[in-house]
Amino acid sequence: MSPIAAHLEDVLSRITRATTAAGRADGSVRLLAVSKTFGADAVREAVAVGQRAFGENYVQEALDKIEALAGETVGAEPLEWHFIGPLQSNKTRPVAEHFDWVHSVDRLKIAERLSAQRPTHLPPLQICLQVNISGEASKSGVTPDEALAVARAIAALPNLTLRGLMAIPEPEDDPARQREPFKAVRDLFDALCADGLALDTLSMGMSGDLEAAVAEGATMVRIGTAIFGARDYGAKA
Ligand SMILES: *Cc1c(COP(=O)(O)O)cnc(C)c1O
Repeated sequence: MSPIAAHLEDVLSRITRATTAAGRADGSVRLLAVSKTFGADAVREAVAVGQRAFGENYVQEALDKIEALAGETVGAEPLEWHFIGPLQSNKTRPVAEHFDWVHSVDRLKIAERLSAQRPTHLPPLQICLQVNISGEASKSGVTPDEALAVARAIAALPNLTLRGLMAIPEPEDDPARQREPFKAVRDLFDALCADGLALDTLSMGMSGDLEAAVAEGATMVRIGTAIFGARDYGAKA
């Protein structure tokens, strides 16, 4: 078994254990494999053992990979590409044209551009609104106070489907304290649903905190390092 296949198996069993421990239904948490900085060959190794959804942060790197892997399938299904990195407005077009999901929508203007640029022969682009739960000025995402108004406006746009919320809390080693920001995102998600928005996705949890995220209701965890290994940003260019 390749190292990537073995790591994937480990991550899937971490997800299963966390799901069971939380009393949640088996299969209620999807794995997004974050392949940024790794090449098409690494993605192919994951595809070979059934991984279908991949997360990318850098537009040009992702486009090259998507092209290299066109035609790859899991079962009869094509791969699913999720954009999860900071998105500038001058880069929305290729994202609207080549991705299936965007988790990192952090202002209405970005959603409006994605909506206008999404080719109408494709299914709607699946969207998560990124929330800045730690309240740091340096972090992207809408504040919890802004979330309802922005979510409503995004949900009204054509060619997009608003699926839920995404958050990246500050790294925290203590498992008990890891849960606090995830719980805040979950509470916000519940409030938006109570307000009538039809949301089904909570994108939260990474290699170091997926158990805490699943305990607080994550439906999609975004895992890079635990599958592909440590990233070497220097080698990217
Ligand atoms: C890189 C990245 C991940 C993966 O993080 P790991 O700690 O490597 O699992 C998840 N989400 C986002 C938004 C990322 O940029």
